[in-house]
Amino acid sequence: MVTGNSKELFESAKQFIPGGVNSPVRAFKAVGGDPLFINAAEGAYLYDVDDNRYIELINSWGPMILGHANELIEKAVIEAVKNSLSFGAPTAKEGEIAELIVNMVPSVEKVRMVNSGTEATMSAIRVARGYTGKDKIIKIEGCYHGHGDSFLIAAGSGAVTMGTPDSPGVTKGTAKDTLLAPFNRLESIKELIESNPSEIAAIILEPVPGNMGCVLPEPGYLSGLRQICDEENIVLIFDEVMTGFRLAKGGAQELFNVIPDITTLGKIIGGGMPVGAYGGKSEIMDYVSPQGPVYQAGTLSGNPVAMAAGYTMLEYLNENPGIYTQLEEITSFIVQGIQQNLKKLNLSYTINHLGSMFSLFFTEKEVIDFDTAKTSDTKKFGEYFRRMLNQGVYLAPSQFETLFISTAITKELAEAIIQANYEVLNSMH
Ligand code: PMP
Repeated sequence: MVTGNSKELFESAKQFIPGGVNSPVRAFKAVGGDPLFINAAEGAYLYDVDDNRYIELINSWGPMILGHANELIEKAVIEAVKNSLSFGAPTAKEGEIAELIVNMVPSVEKVRMVNSGTEATMSAIRVARGYTGKDKIIKIEGCYHGHGDSFLIAAGSGAVTMGTPDSPGVTKGTAKDTLLAPFNRLESIKELIESNPSEIAAIILEPVPGNMGCVLPEPGYLSGLRQICDEENIVLIFDEVMTGFRLAKGGAQELFNVIPDITTLGKIIGGGMPVGAYGGKSEIMDYVSPQGPVYQAGTLSGNPVAMAAGYTMLEYLNENPGIYTQLEEITSFIVQGIQQNLKKLNLSYTINHLGSMFSLFFTEKEVIDFDTAKTSDTKKFGEYFRRMLNQGVYLAPSQFETLFISTAITKELAEAIIQANYEVLNSMH
């Protein structure tokens, strides 16, 4: 349904912006076709520059958990804007949001605000290295932690003990300090530790990965990692940029009752503004400058407008925990509806789901890690994506992403999504 104005804007943007977009997956390259240019959004709906309306299942890749143009957040931002956009000096709101995050997220005793998830994870591993005096990190294949050099490492099967740069521009020197292990395999972590004795500063992972599609930790995996890290003096970092304030108000760590040493946060924490954060035990966070020697800074960090949006969002979630039950119920309803569609059409694709995150994988294999996620038929996914768009449903334009449900999705809209899914799968049959 990509029509005139989006096409024209994309052609024009390509002259001045690499690939026409400011973040690659927005270009729809993986699914074929051109991206929609968006004009506005309200509640559960997205409106493009040709006045087409779509049901939103990405929600800005996670932040808009209350739907778009939430009145409370808008009001807080407008009030904050009146006092100037930035001071580069401390404000009361920064202390208030830090206290709220400490109260909501079990592992966090102290927290530093940054401007994106990428900054949060880059800073977290620097602190883990400074704290432990060790250099190497273990990253889990298929997890995404932003575009910091240390994380852009290929997830190839031969790369279990030594990282290889995935992106030109990442030096071999950086890559050699990132070791890779498959998700859900404690054995492989143990092997890496054995072959790199006393060298591992941190293990970083998404506790419930959303970046290879939605994948769930098997029972005992997260607590097993916790135990290994305790035994080996390794900092356990949960990247909860997606799952934080989404799976529960205290994130995946609250849900699974496994407490990491450092947590990285983003997306919902800014209510739609560019915000990230990293926090954890005081003992570790006190290594951060100016308290400690590990340098990390930001001209716009703790920006007053961003803090106003983030504080209002978090306060709302903290005071209305019932929304997590609501989100789980509506998401389960959609997932069950899609499962019934698959059954009716005699298809056995895989659906993974937790809370308000879910993915439909175009594979018959159970998806438990990156390798099994990659058995999906991405061509088929592309066709599914384009046809869903034509039905007015806006999905993430990649098989290797989770969908995010917002509280703006009503039962009626959920039924419309299930119906669109049936018609599209049937037409592809
Ligand atoms: N970590 C995770 C788990 C993410 O999903 C993302 C973004 N999708 C990031 C880090 C990076 O965040 P940002 O795009 O804000 O830099």
